[in-house]
Amino acid sequence: MIKRAADAVCRIPGGSVVIASVDYVLNWGRASSLWPLTYGLACCAIEMMAAAASRYDLDRLGVILRSTPRQSDLMIVAGTVSKKMAPVLRQLYDQMPEPKYVLALGGCACAGGPFHDSYFTVQGVDEIVPVDIYVAGCPPRPEALIDGLVRLQERIHRQSIRDSA
Ligand code: SF4
Repeated sequence: MIKRAADAVCRIPGGSVVIASVDYVLNWGRASSLWPLTYGLACCAIEMMAAAASRYDLDRLGVILRSTPRQSDLMIVAGTVSKKMAPVLRQLYDQMPEPKYVLALGGCACAGGPFHDSYFTVQGVDEIVPVDIYVAGCPPRPEALIDGLVRLQERIHRQSIRDSA
């Protein structure tokens, strides 16, 4: 519906300028106020906490950790995802409002990490939810998480409402 309306506006002379301006404002707002769902599952969560604390201070990027999916537009999956936890993770993801993003933090969330091919862990959180940004490491340092967040912000700046469903 939004896509069709945006396409219709673009067909009007000067319409693409209007859409570009709307995209700019929306993307600026979304990229400047990422609110991640606090979802620490194992050791990588310690690095996420360190990134949010005073030394690295995620607040200065507009990244403020939330404890409910209904106020979150980003899920940072920090740690090992067990098969028992997988349906819970999916349910929390489904409760987040659109547009929403997922950042896989660390080797476990990206691809199973040291638990590769084990019987009880998911071999990458992308088996359960779509992942936008992967941050490698075991564990990745807070700087790596910040780099992943900046990459996500750059990606959000390239979005257009013409690409929405
Ligand atoms: S990637 Fe390494 S540090 Fe992170 S949760 Fe897995 S084992 Fe722990």
